[in-house]
Amino acid sequence: MSLIKYLGNLGYGSRREVTALVSARRVTALDGRAVMASDPWVHTDLRIDGEPLDPAPGVVVILHKPVGFVCSTQDVPPLIYDLLPARFARRTPVIAPVGRLDRDTSGLLLLTDDGALNHRLTSPRSQLSKTYRVTLAHPLTGNEAAIFSGGTLRLRGEDTPLLPATLTVLNAQTAEMTIHEGRYHQVRRMFVAVGNHVTALHRVAIGGLTLSDVDLGTWRVLTDQELGLLPG
Ligand code: URA
Repeated sequence: MSLIKYLGNLGYGSRREVTALVSARRVTALDGRAVMASDPWVHTDLRIDGEPLDPAPGVVVILHKPVGFVCSTQDVPPLIYDLLPARFARRTPVIAPVGRLDRDTSGLLLLTDDGALNHRLTSPRSQLSKTYRVTLAHPLTGNEAAIFSGGTLRLRGEDTPLLPATLTVLNAQTAEMTIHEGRYHQVRRMFVAVGNHVTALHRVAIGGLTLSDVDLGTWRVLTDQELGLLPG
């Protein structure tokens, strides 16, 4: 791929804008030498205005989503992309969320430009576990764990029963719930089905992956070790 196209795909600008960056000698190699459009290049060697390039294609980002942010490139702001470098929403392919969290849900969100990986992680066949900390309007009755783990609960308007889910009660009005699918507003609707109401929802884990050091509203690229925790 040409350097101009590559930088354009990373969101550094239109063909014309990226060509201007290169002509202005703002794209340099590690030794500080300006790179010409026709030169051979390696992602890790390139700098723009002295800064390393954004992550190479195939990146997976972990974001600690706050309540109030929408998982979309186009919606009523604030959007999750407001928490990321502006270039991320302009990349081709775009760095897209892996599934979604509701506007009112906080916690662990993955994003990637790897469409095959995104599909693998969100496909119903993957049955990848997702764990949520749930705060409820009313005390738990004690029957919920059995109902959720039974594999027969149907959400309103749906024919297919939910896969068994695990509920760990933390105290009268908080619990951790692990589900293995990702239906629309699933956790909130599960509690509606048992006569309760979720007042706060926070995703603490996807598979073996947790937020660890990622503070609220911040993001970073997944480490190789963390990538190894995702289904291959
Ligand atoms: N279940 C929900 O109800 N909302 C989410 O954001 C995720 C799971």
